[in-house]
Amino acid sequence: MRRLALMIAGALLAGFPGRAVGQTEAPSADRALARDILRELIEINTTDSLGNTPRAARAMARRLVAAGFPAADVRVLIGPDAKHGNLVARYRGTGTGGRPIIGFAHLDVVPARRADWSVDPFTFLEKDGYFYGRGSSDDKVGDAILVADFIRLKRAGFKPQRDLIILLTGDEETDGSCIAWLVSQHRDLIDAEFALNTDAGGGVLRDGRRVMFTVQASEKVYATYALEATDKGGHSSLPRPADNPVYRLAPVIERLAAYQFPVKLNEVSRGFFDLSATLETGALAEDMRGVLKDPPDSTAVAHLSAVPFYNSKLRTTCVATMMAAGHAENALPQSARVTVNCRILPGDPPADVAATLRRLAGDDRIALRTVYVPIPSPPSPLTPAIMGPLERLVAEQFPNVPIVPVMEAGATDGLFLRNAGIPTYGVSAVFEEQNDVRAHGRDERLRVQSFYEALEFWYRMMQAYTSDRLTP
Ligand SMILES: [Zn+2]
Repeated sequence: MRRLALMIAGALLAGFPGRAVGQTEAPSADRALARDILRELIEINTTDSLGNTPRAARAMARRLVAAGFPAADVRVLIGPDAKHGNLVARYRGTGTGGRPIIGFAHLDVVPARRADWSVDPFTFLEKDGYFYGRGSSDDKVGDAILVADFIRLKRAGFKPQRDLIILLTGDEETDGSCIAWLVSQHRDLIDAEFALNTDAGGGVLRDGRRVMFTVQASEKVYATYALEATDKGGHSSLPRPADNPVYRLAPVIERLAAYQFPVKLNEVSRGFFDLSATLETGALAEDMRGVLKDPPDSTAVAHLSAVPFYNSKLRTTCVATMMAAGHAENALPQSARVTVNCRILPGDPPADVAATLRRLAGDDRIALRTVYVPIPSPPSPLTPAIMGPLERLVAEQFPNVPIVPVMEAGATDGLFLRNAGIPTYGVSAVFEEQNDVRAHGRDERLRVQSFYEALEFWYRMMQAYTSDRLTP
């Protein structure tokens, strides 16, 4: 049976260059190229403060031009300021198959300190089946896949029916100013029917076993607030505890720590728990069914809320992430500030979240300031035109793994594209252990096998959406 299925797949795929049927990883020369691109990117430290994304964008542009892309179609765009570099590369199609589609990733990384890691975060290292390095999983894996697959398609002589665009941005982890700038200033270069995000969705592994392939169609809205207490200060030998901003802020932080936003499920999160309940067993499966009841079972809610991953799907969350106070050890503080980062459910008005924070502050001498203004991110529709090719490709490369639409707690550049009317789907296709996600953390790493599988998946996906030859 399996053999037959492979043969049928083979017949459907006939005519596709460089493609070995039944294979789940890219051929070795293409793997080596992708690995080398990943290595090069990890070794360019693109932490925002260093301003190295122009260098990374140029390095990727060099690779594409060397592979035969016309220089005019490989644009390094420096902006919105000199510190930020972006790459927009266009693979020209015959124009018979509709408007372009985008594949995108980001070049920047969150900071990593050598002292916090067991290895150097900016030296590429392959060890025990993993690639280590800052950005290995978030999101230099995406840059490397897009660039390597463009080169492979070009070498194979593939002719898309519509243009394929790759978009590598320079500050996804901080302000998102690059994607916002590209949308507002270079819309002509990135106008597309829809976009595919390497930095969202993916595959869930449990003890090495693939359990689901996730497609991110909706994401939580990112917002950051600061709560600040101020005072005129003075000499520390003459304390005034009732005025001290540090003391006044402390109970606010405690209230914030104890607070939970109400549970609100939407279509995507309901679908997620519904399907997850069939994959899980025992108490966890019971709890998943429990939260789907109307009203949700409170014990089930309590259990799932204790697991950060599930909690993030149940409700809006806000968490204190930074604190700053005082200016000298022998002076009364003149200010104390806590930064609160929120991930707001698509249906929750951000104004309500701000009002909740103000209520938790409970002291009108504490000011609430919006540090990062929330940008709405409407869910992208999972139409048959999107899901059809995906279902085929997943069945072919990851047989029997269900596709699960998800709302992600992390916000990405995708929200700017969604906001600009370009539906965006997160399909990283990188399988990761559910309980070992190290993006933004120490010893970030990428499973080698998952990298090569995703490389192959994107190679096929870029063809599938720009060609009718996959359609039986
Ligand atoms: Zn990212």
